[in-house]
Amino acid sequence: MTFMPSEMKTPLLASCASEQSDPRGPEGPVISIIGSGDFSRSLAVRLVACGFRVAVGSRDPRRVPGGLFPDAVELRSQRAAAEAAETVVFAAVYPEHYHTLAALRERLAGKVLVDVSSAARLSGGERSNAERLAELFPESRVVKGFNVISAWALQAADHDGSRQVLICSDCSDAKATVLQLARRLGFSPVDRGGLRASREIEEAPLILFPTWGGPILATFLLFLFFYLYLFLRQVLLPYLDQGENNFYQLPLVTVNETLPAVALVTLALVYLPGLLAAAFQLLRGTKYMRFPGWLDCWLCRRKQLGLLSFLCAVLHAVYSMCLTLRKAAGYALLNAAYRQVKDGAENSWVEQRVWRSDLYLSCGILGFGVLSLLALTSLPSVGNALNWREFTFVQSGLGYAALTLSTMHTLFFGWDFAFFPSAYPYYLPPVYLLALILPCVVLVGRIFLALPCLMLRLAKIRQGWESARHRPSNNQEPARSSEAHPSLNVGDV
Ligand code: NAP
Repeated sequence: MTFMPSEMKTPLLASCASEQSDPRGPEGPVISIIGSGDFSRSLAVRLVACGFRVAVGSRDPRRVPGGLFPDAVELRSQRAAAEAAETVVFAAVYPEHYHTLAALRERLAGKVLVDVSSAARLSGGERSNAERLAELFPESRVVKGFNVISAWALQAADHDGSRQVLICSDCSDAKATVLQLARRLGFSPVDRGGLRASREIEEAPLILFPTWGGPILATFLLFLFFYLYLFLRQVLLPYLDQGENNFYQLPLVTVNETLPAVALVTLALVYLPGLLAAAFQLLRGTKYMRFPGWLDCWLCRRKQLGLLSFLCAVLHAVYSMCLTLRKAAGYALLNAAYRQVKDGAENSWVEQRVWRSDLYLSCGILGFGVLSLLALTSLPSVGNALNWREFTFVQSGLGYAALTLSTMHTLFFGWDFAFFPSAYPYYLPPVYLLALILPCVVLVGRIFLALPCLMLRLAKIRQGWESARHRPSNNQEPARSSEAHPSLNVGDV
C-alpha cells in the first residue's frame, strides 16, 4: 500500500527494535482486544513483542488468571478497553456473542473494529460475521482479518505457520491501518477488497485442500482399477480355475505392481492437458478463446497430479527394495537353487535377462531422480528462485524426460513377454501394457507437435497471431469481447 490515510500520519508505533531497547517500555497508541480467550492472549503476546501497548477488555477482568497475559498488557473491563483504544479494537469473541457488545457502540464509534472470527460451517451466500458486526456497529469502521491465522501461529509467526493474512473492508482508511499493522506484526497481508469478500475469508480456514480433491480422486480411482485388475488376473481367476493360492500377493506384490502403473498414468495425465490445449489452439487458430471448463480445471491441477505421481513412484521404490526381504522371495530362491542342483546346471546366467533387468532398473532410477527434481521445484521457495524460462525448462523439458524414462522403464520391464500368448491368461493383458497406453499417446502427441509446421504455427499463435476468421476487419470493434479472453498460459507443452 502506498497511500497513507490521515490517521496513519502518526505511525501506529515506532519500530519494534527501538521499543524493545526503550527501558521505559512501549509507548504510543493503545490497541485493544475485547475478549480474553486463546486468540486474544496470542494476539496480545505478539503485539507486546512488537512493542505495542495493549489493553484487553474482559467481562470480568478479576476472573482472568494471573500470568495469562504478559505483564505489559492492561486488563480492563470491556468498556474501559474500548475507550482506551485510540484507533484499533479487535473483537476476539465468538460471533454468537457480538450482540452482548452492543453497549460498547458509543465507545467504538469512529474506531477501526477488527473482526477475527471464522465461519462455523461452509454455507455459501449467508451474510458474513463481519457484515453482521458492521450492522451492529454502524459508526465503527469494520475490517475483516487475521482469522486465517491460528492462535498458535500468531505466537510462532517468526518461526513457522502461515504468514498470509487476508484482509477486507469497505473503508479504505481502516483497511490500510490494519494492513500496516499486520505487516508490523510480521505477517504478509493480502488486500481482498470490500467487506463482500469477508464470507470467503471466513470460510477459508474450513476448506480442506481445495485444489486436491480431483487429483486425489483420479489417483485413487486409477489405483482401484489397477489393483482390482491385478487381483482378478493374478489371484482370483487362478484360484477359481486351478485352485492356485496367490492370496499372499495382495499386501505387497499386488500393491507394488499397482503403484508404478498409477505413477506412470498420473504422470501422463500431467502432460496430456498441455497437448490438448495446444491442439485446441491449433484448430481454432487463436489463443484468445476460452478452453472448455474441464480443460481449464485440468490445466490448473497439473502440479497436484505430478506430486501424486511422485508419491506413487516413491512408494514403488520403497516397496521394490523391500520385495526381496519377503519370506516368499527367500523360499523361491531356495527352490530355484535346489532345481538347478537337481538339473546339474552349473551356471544359470542368461545374458539377455541380465540386460533386461539392468536397463529396466537404470531407467527407473533415472526417471525417479528427474521426477524428484520436478517435485522439488514445485516447492514455492524453490520455484520462486527460478525465472519463467528456467521453470518451463524444468517442468516441461525435464518433465517429458521423466515421462520418457518411466515409459522406457516399463517397456524394459515388459521386454518381449507381451508377444507370448502365455502373457494373456484368461485373455487379460499384463497390467504394464495397459499402463503404457496413455504415456505412449502423450509422447507420440508431443513428437507430433514438434513437427516444424505445427511448432511454428503454435509459436505464432502464442505470440498473439490469429487466423483470418478471428481477425477483426478494419471497421469492426476488436474481437476481444467478454466472451474471448486470453486463455491460461499453458507454457511449453
Ligand atoms: P475463546 O478462547 O472461547 O475466547 C472467547 C472470549 O470471548 C472469552 O474468553 C470471553 O472473554 C469473551 N466473551 C465475550 N463475551 C462473551 C460471551 N457472551 N460469552 C462467552 N465469552 C464471551 O475463543 P478464541 O479461541 O479466543 O476465539 C475468539 C475469536 O477468535 C472467535 O471468533 C474465533 O473464530 C476467532 N479465531 C480464533 C482462533 C484460534 O486459534 N483460537 C483463530 C482464528 C480466529 P471474557 O470472559 O474475558 O469476556
